[in-house]
Amino acid sequence: MFAFDGYVTGDGECVCELCTDGEDAPLDGELDSPMHCAYCGRPLDCALTARGVTYVFRQMLEDIAALRKLSRRARQAPGAWPKGHYYHGSPGYEVMLDWLDQIDGTHLHRKERKRIEQFRALCRPAERVASS
Ligand SMILES: [Zn+2]
Repeated sequence: MFAFDGYVTGDGECVCELCTDGEDAPLDGELDSPMHCAYCGRPLDCALTARGVTYVFRQMLEDIAALRKLSRRARQAPGAWPKGHYYHGSPGYEVMLDWLDQIDGTHLHRKERKRIEQFRALCRPAERVASS
């Protein structure tokens, strides 16, 4: 999990702990979608409403469909993510994994949990071939 603590600037922008000037209020409450830092794009740790959970789940289903079209190696390459968000060259699926961590504590049906496991399996690093 590499979501960062979030803050809200006086202008209403959400920023991460590294971009805040120290005078910003902490990002609080439940949100309808996951947030990213307005300055650097880092994912922010935030609680989600039921609508936010649905949003993440739908995005994940779209990502599963897109990931299935890529080879395992292609999935891992920075910038190879077919859609979604990046920051500092991280593959986009890491952001989705963070989002899934955020909804993991919420009530999900068994079928939904299975789909999340399916997504995590698609993102698992390619196994290294031992060199001899
Ligand atoms: Zn930032």
